[in-house]
Amino acid sequence: MSKISGKETKPEILVRKFLFSHGFRYRKNVKKLPGKPDIVLSKYKSVIFVNGCFWHGHSCKAAKLPNTRREFWETKIGNNIERDKNNYTELSNLGWKVIVIWQCELKNKELRQNRLFNLIQQIKE
Ligand SMILES: [Zn+2]
Repeated sequence: MSKISGKETKPEILVRKFLFSHGFRYRKNVKKLPGKPDIVLSKYKSVIFVNGCFWHGHSCKAAKLPNTRREFWETKIGNNIERDKNNYTELSNLGWKVIVIWQCELKNKELRQNRLFNLIQQIKE
């Protein structure tokens, strides 16, 4: 089983490399946009967030909250979810297409290939 860890396999880098090799040009971590999107494709008016499942409260197994300090985590992750939602709404209002990629969608080769090819469709549609 392969794990995503360390610099080389960082999920954002994976996605950026894939996009670059398919001819997409992007800016990264654009501070002036709400939520500082990981990848910004101005030509397609699209922004991409590569979200860690735990911190952004995904509905998958990887995002399961710890049993200790339950209330603390619920509040913390709940706030993150709320903030993400507001950022996505703001971006949409500014005319951006918001695409979210979850870390669990990249965790093995098969999932990753599917997700990344879908990503191209999402960007171009
Ligand atoms: Zn997930």
